[in-house]
Amino acid sequence: MPRSKLSAMSPSAILQPIFAPLTTLKGVGPRFGKKLANLQGPLIRDLLWHLPTGLVDRRLRPKIRELPSHKGQVVTLEVQVMEHIPAPRRGLPHKVHVRDDSGHMELIFFKGKPDFWLRSLPAGTVKIISGKIDFYGGLPQMIHPDHIGNPDQVDRIATLEPHYPLTEGISNKLVRWAIDQSLQRLPQLPEWHDPQLVKQREWQDWKSALLAAHRPQGWDDLSAHDKSRERLAYDEILSSQLALALVRQLQRRATRPSRTALSFELRKKILKSLPFQLTKAQQEAIIEIDRDMQSEHPMLRMLQGDVGSGKTVVALLTMANTIETGKQAALMAPTEILARQHLQTIQPIADQAGLRVAALTGRDKGKARKTILEAVKNREIDILVGTHALLEDEVLFPNLGCVIIDEQHRFGVEQRLSLMQKNNGIDMLVMTATPIPRSLFLSIYGDLECSRLMEKPPGRLPIDTRTISLDRFSEVIEAMKRAIKEDRQIYWVCPLVEESEVLDLAAAEARHQELAQIFPGKVGLIHGRMKAKDKDKVMQDFAADKIKILVATTVIEVGVNVPNATIMVVDHAERFGLAQLHQLRGRIGRGSGKSTCLLLYGNPISQTAKARLAILRETEDGFRIAEEDLKLRGAGELLGTRQSGLPEMRFADYNVHQDLFKIAQVDVKMILEKDPVLQTERGKNLRLLLYLFDRQQAVAYLKSG
Ligand code: ADP
Ligand code: MG
Repeated sequence: MPRSKLSAMSPSAILQPIFAPLTTLKGVGPRFGKKLANLQGPLIRDLLWHLPTGLVDRRLRPKIRELPSHKGQVVTLEVQVMEHIPAPRRGLPHKVHVRDDSGHMELIFFKGKPDFWLRSLPAGTVKIISGKIDFYGGLPQMIHPDHIGNPDQVDRIATLEPHYPLTEGISNKLVRWAIDQSLQRLPQLPEWHDPQLVKQREWQDWKSALLAAHRPQGWDDLSAHDKSRERLAYDEILSSQLALALVRQLQRRATRPSRTALSFELRKKILKSLPFQLTKAQQEAIIEIDRDMQSEHPMLRMLQGDVGSGKTVVALLTMANTIETGKQAALMAPTEILARQHLQTIQPIADQAGLRVAALTGRDKGKARKTILEAVKNREIDILVGTHALLEDEVLFPNLGCVIIDEQHRFGVEQRLSLMQKNNGIDMLVMTATPIPRSLFLSIYGDLECSRLMEKPPGRLPIDTRTISLDRFSEVIEAMKRAIKEDRQIYWVCPLVEESEVLDLAAAEARHQELAQIFPGKVGLIHGRMKAKDKDKVMQDFAADKIKILVATTVIEVGVNVPNATIMVVDHAERFGLAQLHQLRGRIGRGSGKSTCLLLYGNPISQTAKARLAILRETEDGFRIAEEDLKLRGAGELLGTRQSGLPEMRFADYNVHQDLFKIAQVDVKMILEKDPVLQTERGKNLRLLLYLFDRQQAVAYLKSG
C-alpha cells in the first residue's frame, strides 16, 4: 500500500491560513516579521500560541480633577488638545497641554519626532489618551501615552488589555496588533476530542478556546487552570502522546531478523580495551538492550543516566552488536561540539577493536564531506557520529541497523523518533541526561521501554557547591586568584535569558571584559554565535591550559572534557533551571582533583529561588534534584519547561496538568484500539491535531487506506 506521504507532509488545506508565514499579515515586513518570529516561530500559528501573561486595566476613566487619587495608575482620559510646547533644547521633552472641563494637564514626550506628535494630536481636537499618571510640580502628566485615539475608539482603548511577553524591538501594541489580525484567520476546526470529555471538563471548541485565551477578562483567565488554557494544554498533550503511541505501534509491528546468533566478539574486544569495569547499572542496561535486540521487533528504548553516569560506553557496546551482524550504526549528538567529543571518546576504543569510525557535522564541507559520504555508502564506516542532521540530509546508509540519539531535551523524543520512522526496522536507543522522576516518566512516555543508570562510576570526588550573592563579587575574584595560583582552571558560565540572545551576549561580553581586566591574558570567551573555527581555537587554548578562565554562554554546552578545569562559577544562577545547573556542574569533577562550583545569585532573590539553589548544595543526585525542582516550581514560578530539561511544551505544564497527562494515556489507548490508523471521523480530526502541533511525521508514515 502506498504511504500517504505527500498529502501528509503539507498541512491540510483547512490549516493553511494559520500555517502561512507571519509576513503575510498586513504591515508585517521581513524585519518586523523576523522580530515577531523570535517570540514563538515564523508562522501565524506560532504567534497564536503566544499567550498573554499579564493584564493592564485601562477601564478607569476619571476626570482630570480626580487624577490626584490615581497617582501611578493607568487611566483612560478624554481630553482636548490645547497647544504644543516644543522642546526648547536637546534633552528636554516636547510637551502638549491638554484639558477637559475639570482641569488641565500635560503630555510629555522625550523620544520621537515632534512632527508625529503634532500630527497625532492636532491642537483643538478631542482625543482619547491612555497611560500612567504621574505628577510633576503639582500638575498631572502622562509620559508617552500608551494609546492615542479618536473619541469613537474609546471602547477599544478603555479595556482590560492583555500583555504579552516581549522581545527586543517590539512593543505590546505591535504584538497585539499582529495577534488580532492572526485571530481573524482562525479556522473553525472539527472537534478531535471525545465529546464526553469535552462536556465533562466544560471545554470550549478549539477556536473559541484560543480566542478566549487571548482575551482574558481577569487575572484568573491567565492561570494554567483556566478552562480555555486547559483545553489547549490537552490538545498539546494528546498530540504528543498520540504521536509517540503511533511510532511505538509501528515499531512493534515492524520486524527484522533477530540478533540471536551474536557471538559478542566485538563486545569482548571493547571491554578488554576499557581501563575500567562496567558498573552494575551499565551491565543491567546492556542486558536489557541485548534482550531487545534478540527480539524480532526493532528496539525502541530510552537510556536515562545522569551526567557522568557512563552512557557513552553503553552506546558503544550497543552499536557493537549491530556491527557484528554486518550493519552500520549512527550516533547523533545535539551539538557539533558534543559530536566531536563523542568521536574523541569512541575513537581510541574503536581503533583497538577494529571498528571504523567517522564524524560528520555541518562543519565538514566540500571534498571532506564527500569523502565521508562515499565511505559510508561503500560500507567502509561502521559508526558515523554526527549531529541530528545526519538522518535529515543526504547521508545514505546502505546498511543502517542502529541509531543512537544523545537527546537534546529540548525536542520531544517522539518528534525525533517519528522523524526517523523512514528507517523502519532499525534499532533505536535514545539517551537522555535528564533524570525524569518515575511518576512523570509515565505521564510523558507511557510504557516506553527505559533503562536507568542510577549508579555512577566509582572514584568521583564530591563537588563542593556553594551559593554566593553577587554582591560578594570581589571575594569570588580573590578566590579565583588563589585557584589560578594553584594552577586550576575555571569555567565562568553566563546565563541566557531567552528573550534576547543579543542582550545576553552583550552581558557575557561585558563580563568577559571585566574579568580580562582583572586577569590579563588569561581569559577566553566562547558563545554560540562564534564561527566553529573560532570556537575550536578557544576550546583548544583552554584544554591546553593557555587560558585559565573560560567565559561561556550556555548556548554552547560547556561540553569539552577539561579535567584540569575544576572550578565552575555560574553567573546569575537563579536564572537557570536546576536540571540545567546540574548538567553544567557535571562538567567539573572529572579529574582527580577537588572541584568547586560557585552559584552566584543576583539580588533581590525570592525565598523559593534560594531554596532551589540550596538543593544543589545538598545533593549531586540528578534524580533527586529533578524531583525537588518539580515540587518547588509552583504554578506561580514562571519557569519555562525549556529549563527543566523536560520536553518543551507550549501550553501544558507538568505540574499543573498532571491529571491531563493521565487522561491522555487512557484516551490514546482507546483511540488506537478502535482506530489504529486514524481513519474514522474522529481519527481524521486527530490527524489535524497532529498537524497542528507539527507531529505530521507520525501521520506521514501511517499506511493509508
Ligand atoms: P555521560 O553519561 O554523561 O555521557 P560518559 O559516558 O561521558 O557519561 O562517561 C563519563 C566518564 O566516565 C568518561 O570519562 C568515561 O570514560 C567514564 N566511565 C564510564 N563508565 C565507567 C566505569 N564503569 N568506570 C569508570 N569510569 C567510567
Ligand atoms: Mg554524554
